[in-house]
This record gives sequence, C-alpha cells and structure tokens, in this order.
Amino acid sequence: MQDCLFCKIARKEIPANVVYEDSNTIAFLDISPASKGHTLVIPKKHCETLDKMDDKELNVLISTVKKVSKVISKICDGYNVLQNNNRAAGQLVDHVHFHIIPQYKESPIRVLEKSKPEISKEEMNQIKERIKTLLK
Ligand code: AMP
Ligand code: ZN
Repeated sequence: MQDCLFCKIARKEIPANVVYEDSNTIAFLDISPASKGHTLVIPKKHCETLDKMDDKELNVLISTVKKVSKVISKICDGYNVLQNNNRAAGQLVDHVHFHIIPQYKESPIRVLEKSKPEISKEEMNQIKERIKTLLK
C-alpha cells in the first residue's frame, strides 16, 4: 500500500534497523522499544489484521516469528509475542505485525498484568456459546 508506514519499510523507502529479511517477511527493531531488542516481524505484503491474512502467508510469517524468537531467547531471559488488531486493541500501524518483546530478570515488563474485569459465570457461558456458534 502506497502510504502504509510498514509497506514503506518493506520497500526500503524508510530506514529501519532490519535484523532479518527473506522474500516474504522482514524483521526490524521497534523504534520505541518496550525493552532492549524489541523486534517487529511483518509480512512484506500489506494486510491490515491477522484475521484477514491468507493462511499460507500467515504460516510463512509465523515461521519468521519463530526464527527470530529463537535468537531473541538466547539474548534475554524470556520474551512475549504480542499482536494487536484494530484500534480498540491498541493497533497503531494498520499492517500486520508481531511484537517480540525480550524480558530481562532485572527489569520485567508485565504486559497482561492490568486490572481484570469481573465476569459472571452466566456471562462466561454466554460468550463461550457465542464464540462456539460463530466458529461452526
Ligand atoms: P502497534 O501498537 O501494535 O500497532 O505497534 C506499532 C509499533 O510500531 C509501535 O511499537 C511503534 O513503536 C512501532 N513503530 C512505529 N513506527 C516505526 C518505525 N518507523 N520503525 C520501527 N518501529 C516503528
Ligand atoms: Zn502496509
């Protein structure tokens, strides 16, 4: 896509700290890292959200996420893989990307440690049935 920031990085129109690249995917350091080594992995082909991706292309992308994660696991004590879709989930760049966020024992980041909402048993059952039905 012409104006997409990550398409521009994939086309080398904008500089980035690229750590890995193949014909379909590219990985580069996040410009505003949550921790040292915070890396983004993207498909070169534009797609806005994970649910819209072609299965084969997603498989290729996740293989790169694994490849980069394997290396990141050697330079830190743990890591999170995070992937945001749509504004409500905090997606700021509308081009699918996986965050690989290294964790260091001395300075842990708790990505999911927010206050959790109270959800009743009834609501849990309702949402379970809704998701199950839509998956059929
Ligand atoms: P998200 O909120 O999941 O859409 O994450 C977008 C990420 O892209 C953020 O962590 C930004 O810091 C990162 N980002 C934005 N612009 C650039 C850029 N030019 N190079 C590298 N990372 C970027
Ligand atoms: Zn794009």
